[in-house]
Amino acid sequence: MDKIATPKNTKEMVSKYDFHFSKSLGQNFLTDYNIIEKIIRGAGITKDTNVIEVGPGIGSLTQGLLEAGKKVVAVEIDKKLIPILQDTLKDYENIKVINEDVLKLNLNQMVMDEFDGGDIKVIGNLPYYITTPIIMKFLEDKVPVESIIIMIQKEVADRMNAKPGKKDYGALSVAVQYYCTTEIITVVPPTVFIPQPKVESSVIKLNVLKEPSVKVEKESLFFSVVKDAFGKRRKTLLNALSSGNLQLNKDMVREVLQKCEIDEKRRGETLSLQEFANIANEVNKRLL
Ligand code: SAM
Repeated sequence: MDKIATPKNTKEMVSKYDFHFSKSLGQNFLTDYNIIEKIIRGAGITKDTNVIEVGPGIGSLTQGLLEAGKKVVAVEIDKKLIPILQDTLKDYENIKVINEDVLKLNLNQMVMDEFDGGDIKVIGNLPYYITTPIIMKFLEDKVPVESIIIMIQKEVADRMNAKPGKKDYGALSVAVQYYCTTEIITVVPPTVFIPQPKVESSVIKLNVLKEPSVKVEKESLFFSVVKDAFGKRRKTLLNALSSGNLQLNKDMVREVLQKCEIDEKRRGETLSLQEFANIANEVNKRLL
């Protein structure tokens, strides 16, 4: 069948079904098949790849995934898009559309029900405000996926990809890089979407690690330390950690930092994941 991802076909479908774009659901549809091919190549989709697509819209990216991959389970929250997807994807047998909010699904159960194991990738062109919760749900629930490839606002992709000492490095960089290695696949201009968003987007690939990148005794404490360290950006590590939500004793923080050979005047944004892990593990020993 014809490519869905052209400006002409997108406009035709939208008017045939009298569809109204919802800003709050972040509905901007891709209209350039070259970008779709780039995403699919970068993601490494082959005939052996099972795909979970979050937010298929009218099926523009889904069509490419169905042609390149094995089976696609597409989760779409907007029920007005379901009849459109049934129309645009009617020639494909390897598709299952689920009309649900992805954040409300039991993803591990879905994977067991829909796939026969093997290589599973998550793909989505996502609205900015739910990107982080969706990614963290896949990672924290330890859904057995090999990688997560998402198109998001460029600025958010840069934060996920940032290394210590860089201006974009923050709690989101640490959270993502605890579970994954990251790579930017491509930058996408607003002109390839209908309607056009205000900002540039990036496609980022998160390769999920078998084990977290650093060894942490207590994950919740590790993430609390990270949050406190970045909470007060202009504060030294000693002050940030002793005045944050954890309410750690200042002498104890000083002792921990000395033990970890970390200068107490450094700021959170200069610390590597290993250094955060060392601090959290030393704090954990003292709180036991
Ligand atoms: N993949 C299509 C494309 O590239 O043209 C559509 C992308 S559009 C930026 C985002 C899609 O995600 C919309 O179809 C929207 O309805 C859907 N969506 C938003 N929040 C969602 C959620 N919580 N669960 C599932 N789908 C969601």
